[in-house]
Amino acid sequence: MKITEHLKNAKSTLFSFEILPPLKGQSLKELLEGIEPLMEFKPPFVDVTYHREEFIYKKHPNGLLEKVSTKKRPGTVGICAAIMNRFHVDAVPHLLCGGFTKEETENALIDLNFIGVDNVLALRGDAPKTEGRFVAEKDGHHFASELVEQIIRMNNGKYLHEETETSFHTDFCVGVAGYPEKHFEAPSLKFDLNYLKEKVDKGAEYIVTQMFFDNKKFFEFERKVREAGINVPIIPGLKPITTLGQITMLPRTFFLDLPDALTDELLQCKTNAEVKEVGIAWAIQQSKELVNAGMPSIHFYTMSKADATYKIAKEVF
Ligand code: FAD
Repeated sequence: MKITEHLKNAKSTLFSFEILPPLKGQSLKELLEGIEPLMEFKPPFVDVTYHREEFIYKKHPNGLLEKVSTKKRPGTVGICAAIMNRFHVDAVPHLLCGGFTKEETENALIDLNFIGVDNVLALRGDAPKTEGRFVAEKDGHHFASELVEQIIRMNNGKYLHEETETSFHTDFCVGVAGYPEKHFEAPSLKFDLNYLKEKVDKGAEYIVTQMFFDNKKFFEFERKVREAGINVPIIPGLKPITTLGQITMLPRTFFLDLPDALTDELLQCKTNAEVKEVGIAWAIQQSKELVNAGMPSIHFYTMSKADATYKIAKEVF
C-alpha cells in the first residue's frame, strides 16, 4: 500500500523506522530477528537504505595501485522482499541517483515493482568517501528531482527508449528527503526549500526529514515548508543517541546541531550505557511533543539496532 494511504487511514501518529543492509558477508537472519520486537508497534512501513559503491585501492605485485569499486552493504532489494514476506508490512527501498545510469534506474524500478514494492524514497546520494564531491554517472541523474521525474514518467507508462506508451504502468508513491537544518551544500534554507519544492512539484508525495534533536528547529522548518507552498505530509526523523562517539560523529556526519540542554547532559556521561539512557529519554520527550503536535508518523533511524527505538516506542506508541 502507498505511504500516502497509510497516512490518510491513520487514526493517530504512526511509528516507522529505517534499517541498513548488513555488511557484506553477514547474514540477514540477525537483522530480521533484531527488528522483530518493533513489529509490536505496527509499523506500516520499514525503510531500507541503499549504499552505493566505495572505492578501494588494490596493490598489484608491481607496486601499482588500482582503484576498484566495492559495495559494503549490498542487498537492499532482497531485504525489502524478505521484510514484506516475513512481517507483511510495506518495505520502502531508498533509491539513489549516484552510481546509477537512467537505464539502470529503470531496471531497478522494474525489479522493485515485480517484487511488490509500492513506495520508494528518491535520493541523490553522497559522493563516495574517497571522492570530494557528488558526480553523477554519465547519463545518470544529478539531483533527486530528476530521479523523481523519471519514476513519475514510468508511472505514466513512459520508459526511456520506448517510442510509445506501454500498456503496463508502475504506480510508485515517491518520498523525498527534507533537511530541517538545511542540506549541507545549500547556501541557505530558502535555497534548499526551492529544490524541495521542485521535488514535490515533480511528483513526490511525502517528505521524510533528516534526524534532528531540537523540535523547535523542526517546527520552524515545517512552517517554512508550508510557506513555500509545499503541502505534502512531512514525516519527522528521529535518532536516539546511544554512544559517546555519536556526540561528535552525528553533527560531523549529518551537519546538525545538538541543543545545549542535551549536550550538557550527554557530556556528564561516563559510559555508553549512561549516554543511551539520556539519548532515549531525549527522544521520548521529542516524540511525545511531535505526537501532540499531530505528526502523521515518526520515523526512527535505528541504524539496525532496535533496542533503543523499542524503549522509545513502548513509551510513546
Ligand atoms: P537533492 O534533493 O538532489 O539535493 C542535494 C543538494 O542539491 C541540496 O543542497 C539542494 O538544495 C541542491 N539542489 C537540488 N536541486 C538542485 C538544482 N536543480 N540546482 C542546484 N542545486 C540543487 N544516502 C544514501 O547514500 N543512502 C540512503 O539510503 C540515504 N537515505 C537517506 C534518507 C533520508 C530520510 C535522508 C534525509 C537522507 C538520506 N541519505 C541517504 C543522504 C542523502 O543521499 C544525502 O543527504 C545527499 O547529499 C542529498 O540527497 P537529496 O536527495 O536530499 O538531494
